[in-house]
Order: sequence, then C-alpha cells, then structure tokens
Amino acid sequence: MLKESPADAQIVSHKLMLRAGLVRQTAAGIYAWLPLGYRVLRNIEQIVRDEQDRSGAIEMLMPTLQSAELWRESGRYDAYGPEMLRIRDRHDRDMLYGPTNEEMITSIFRAETRSYRDLPRTLYHIQWKFRDEVRPRFGVMRGREFLMKDAYSFDIDEAGARMSYYTQMLAYLRTFQRLGIQAVPMKAASGPIGGDLSHEFIVLAPNGESEVFYDAAYEGFDWHQSDIDYGDERDLQRLFKQVSDTYAATDETHDEKQWGKVKEANRRTGRGIEVGHIFYFGDKYSAAMDLKVSGRDGHEVTPLMGSYGIGVSRLVGAIIEASHDDAGIIWPEGVAPWRVGLVTMRADDQPSREAAEMLYGHLLGAGVETLYDDRDERGGAKLASMDLIGLPWQLIVGPRGIATGSVELKKRSTGEKHELSIESALSRLV
Ligand code: ATP
Ligand code: MG
Ligand code: MG
Ligand code: MG
Repeated sequence: MLKESPADAQIVSHKLMLRAGLVRQTAAGIYAWLPLGYRVLRNIEQIVRDEQDRSGAIEMLMPTLQSAELWRESGRYDAYGPEMLRIRDRHDRDMLYGPTNEEMITSIFRAETRSYRDLPRTLYHIQWKFRDEVRPRFGVMRGREFLMKDAYSFDIDEAGARMSYYTQMLAYLRTFQRLGIQAVPMKAASGPIGGDLSHEFIVLAPNGESEVFYDAAYEGFDWHQSDIDYGDERDLQRLFKQVSDTYAATDETHDEKQWGKVKEANRRTGRGIEVGHIFYFGDKYSAAMDLKVSGRDGHEVTPLMGSYGIGVSRLVGAIIEASHDDAGIIWPEGVAPWRVGLVTMRADDQPSREAAEMLYGHLLGAGVETLYDDRDERGGAKLASMDLIGLPWQLIVGPRGIATGSVELKKRSTGEKHELSIESALSRLV
C-alpha cells in the first residue's frame, strides 16, 4: 500500500487502486495485477463467465497474437489504423496483438461448421486485448492492454440473430446487477448496417467520458427476479421492448423529443463509463470472409453475426468510481477480494491473538473468505488500511473487548458498528 496518492493519478479510482496496492503500471497503459487486485479481477471474471454460461454461450480461448492475413481478408488490416499493435516475427510475417476477435472467430467457424444444424451458436472467451490508445489514462479504465470478455453469435436468419442479441442483453443486465453496479443499456450509434441493435452499458460516475440521459425506472429493475426465460422468445421480446420503451441514451444518440416524454421526476442526467457494448452487424464479416453453411433447403446461407464485449479490467476501476468514500474503496459483496477483514488492535496482546486465531480458523472452516491482519502495527493504522482496501466486513479484536468475551463487527458500506459476543459475531458472518 502507499501512504500518499501518486501524483500521476487524476481520478479517484486510479488513486485508490494504486494506494490500496491493486495494480502497478509497468509501461504506459500496461499494468501488473498485484495479489489484491488480481483477486478482484478474477471475481469479476467469474461473475461474467457464470452469466455467459447461464445464457447458453459457450466458452473457448483464442490467442492474443493473430496473423495479419485474417485481417486482410476482412479489409480491416489497413482500416483499423494506429490503435493496432503490429508485430513482425523472425520470418518477416505480419502479426498483430488482437484488439478484438471477429476475424478469428469467423475463420474458426468457417473451418468447423457446415450446416444450419450447427446454428444458432454463441461462443465467447475472456482474453487480453491490446489497443494502442493515443491517450491511455485513468489507470486500468483506459489501458492499452486490457481484459475483455467478447462473445460472438452466429444465426441463420435475422429473427434468430435478434434472439441472440436479446439473450446477451439479458445476460449483461444480470451480470452488472450481480457486480453491484447500476449499468444502464443505452442506445448507441449503430454503425455500418443501421438498425436498433447496438447498446452500450454505462455506469454512472462523475468522471465518465460520455454524457448520459436516462429514465430512473432503470434503478428499480431487478433482472434476476424477473420471470424472463432465456428459452422463451416472447419473454426475450418483452425484455427488449421494456428496454426500448425506457429512455436511455448517450450524447451521441440523445433525442430531445423522446426525452421530453420521460416523466420530469424520472429524468437522470450525468456522466458515465462504458463497461460493455453489444452489437449486431449482420453479414459484415461472414460475407467478407466467405463463411457459409448449407441451409435447410440445401442452398448455402451466409450466417449473421453479432459481437458482445465487456471490459473486465475496466470494471475494476468503474466499480471503485461508483463505490467509494473518503476513507477508501467499498467493494460490493460479489467482487470483494475477501469478505471479512479480521484485525487485532494489539498483535502483542496474547488473549487477543488467541481469540483472533480461533476466529480465523472458524471463518476459514466455514468457507468465509477472510483476510487476517496480524501485523505488528498500530491498531488505528490497521483499521485505516482495512477501510482503504474496502472489504465488506471488519471483525475487530481488542484487549478490552476480549476481557469480556466480545469483539466489534463493522460494516464497511454504512460504517455501522456492533459490539457482539464472539458467537453472535460469527453467526452473522457464517
Ligand atoms: P471506448 O469507447 O471506451 O474507447 P470502445 O467502444 O472502443 O471503448 P469496444 O470496442 O466496444 O470498446 O470494446 C468492448 C469493451 O471493452 C468496452 O465496452 C470497454 O468496456 C472495454 N474497453 C475498450 N477499450 C478499453 C481500454 N482501452 N481499456 C480498458 N477497457 C477497454
Ligand atoms: Mg475505443
Ligand atoms: Mg465506445
Ligand atoms: Mg464500444
């Protein structure tokens, strides 16, 4: 951990990530994940994975390095510009560090599938990307190397492609809710083929790069309780209608006339961070790269595709932007590196030490992820560290309490503290 905020960090999440020892920059926009930060990154990744799996998407892993040949086929090798990191190998072959994977997944699909019976299919991976951003900044929020979940859907017709899109939309709503953040799906500029199938998921934060306008109704939606079934087309249509009918847009697509129809008390404006983006692009890559499968009637069909990204490493910063106070980070339960921080106020006090070790054993035995701070430091400094790293619960053991068999339990998000017997403190955590 660092005592002072590093001078080069401009925004609160970046300052806190450095101070709390989550990451260290190793080159411009490239970060090493220190143990604490890596646990958070893995927790986020696992929630993303879980919700992708639940939605029926299938995980795989594609490499970070790609051959330029693939990108020449789609015509993007030249079009992508200076954000692409181009590499030459010892045989003078043009390679690149993948900024995204449409070309690669299309080539894999082209080689491995023959028939409409292989569709629909959505495949995803969670892999490092590289984009040589002009201005890497805000720490991991705009890095050059960053971790992304990217999914790709293949369908035989447009009706099917819409269902794949709606399915990912629901998976995203559920993912962000489990991550403990309010990410609103906002109509995005729709790119080459037009249509209504492009949404950015945006987390509200004063330091966000885009200006946003949305209906407060989003704050009340519970996407896990909702009785939407991935397998039911009418459910998915209902979901899409609900999203389309509830206004949300970035400055790029903002429409004053539609905005005027939102109840005044419900109008929310502010700034936001893009944490995910879903996108339908039809046959853009399948046609360019000659991906075809045989259709039901024997004729060849060009599958229609969509792609779906989540910025896994950006989310670490975005969650902190949305959830912190003057003392430090406040992790939502689902992503916290540990659930409980156990602190001895005086590590040199034998009864406190014994009690803390007993509590530690119990918590670990019950499967409660616990960080035990047994350092020989001032109690006040240890409590400040716990506040900084933001674990949801602090269990504090001090000589005075232990003399009467009690400990203190503090909830980080509210600051609420309770003096409890050891048994009841344990029963609240287990
Ligand atoms: P931005 O508008 O922030 O540059 P993008 O629109 O270029 O992002 P996409 O191509 O939509 O990004 O990629 C999917 C997701 O990957 C984004 O929604 C974002 O969460 C994440 N992402 C993109 N660029 C970066 C980056 N430089 N650092 C960290 N995460 C990123
Ligand atoms: Mg970009
Ligand atoms: Mg963008
Ligand atoms: Mg985007």
